[in-house]
Amino acid sequence: MIAHPGSEVRVLIRSRPTANFAQELIEYLPDGQTVSVHQRKDSRKGVVNNQLSSWSFRLDGVLHDVSQEEVYGRVGRGVVLGALEGYNGTVMCFGQTGAGKTYTMTGATENYKQRGIIPRALQEVFHEVEQRSDHAFSVHLSFLEIYNETLVDLLASVRGCPGVGPGGMAVVEEAGGGVSVRGLSLHPVHSEEAALNLLFEGEMNRIIGAHALNKNSSRSHCILTVHIESRSRTLSDAKYVTSKLNLVDLAGSERLGKTGSEGQVLKEAMYINKSLSFLEQAILALADRRRDHVPFRQTKLTHALKDSLGGNCNTVLVANIYGEASQIEETLSTLRFASRMKCV
Ligand code: ADP
Ligand code: MG
Repeated sequence: MIAHPGSEVRVLIRSRPTANFAQELIEYLPDGQTVSVHQRKDSRKGVVNNQLSSWSFRLDGVLHDVSQEEVYGRVGRGVVLGALEGYNGTVMCFGQTGAGKTYTMTGATENYKQRGIIPRALQEVFHEVEQRSDHAFSVHLSFLEIYNETLVDLLASVRGCPGVGPGGMAVVEEAGGGVSVRGLSLHPVHSEEAALNLLFEGEMNRIIGAHALNKNSSRSHCILTVHIESRSRTLSDAKYVTSKLNLVDLAGSERLGKTGSEGQVLKEAMYINKSLSFLEQAILALADRRRDHVPFRQTKLTHALKDSLGGNCNTVLVANIYGEASQIEETLSTLRFASRMKCV
């Protein structure tokens, strides 16, 4: 079950359930991997046009009408188990606001069955740590928000937190090719419950911070990172093995309306476009095995994930779509992004 890392990114589609699912426009093929989208050809200028344009996208899986448990099993578990073996991993949700990214990553935490990938991953990490008594583990959490290329520590409010030192927060390169975020607090956690409490605190800070600055929380990227360190208890000369598991709720990918966007909204959209387009370029370049030319430093998102994408890492992207007819343009754009990640 452990996903052995390859340079390829696994891409799955998840659609948010809706009573108005546009069956005539979105078709999931029986292979469980292909989605076809049919769109009415341009019917502007009052000309009624019933012709359809069609596109097919083949990905690694379609999660339509599936439980949170199944989503975790197909998306999260392999990456989590890989991280416990020492492989860095990243699970990311991508798509327009309202498509179900946060539901997929965090879920409805008050309802056990509807917990998302993050709480299930935390549960599995601590379960495995307990099982694997031949290893000593230490687990830390950090929770980073990226808003308009500014880094925010979502756990800075935790008691005893050292606070950001001089120079502020920054992504810094480490010897050996890794990266870390200077000034981002790392919190030791010894139980699932303690980890969940940090998750709640961070999510609350995301909302409070957005409110205070009058910004829209769907306009930021959030990265919860589980830092895992382990060492064999049986081998006397055992080395420490470290890994990072990044669980990422990306900013909404929706494009701006053609008119009327200005000021803050426009600025947010420009930063999001830039970071998502460099994320795509980084993933494509990684698949090309030309690591030297990967444009990681262009945005904070790719820089912070530099050591956890491609190469020796497990990377899974969930493309969340909202299958109502009125959203078909955004759905197409999300599916195009998703399939470009596969076409390498
Ligand atoms: P996003 O984070 O992409 O903006 P959300 O995760 O907040 O979207 O989802 C929008 C709404 O749809 C929320 O009320 C969420 O509970 C609901 N929702 C999304 N996906 C699902 C799903 N698979 N099953 C049930 N409800 C969902
Ligand atoms: Mg959200």
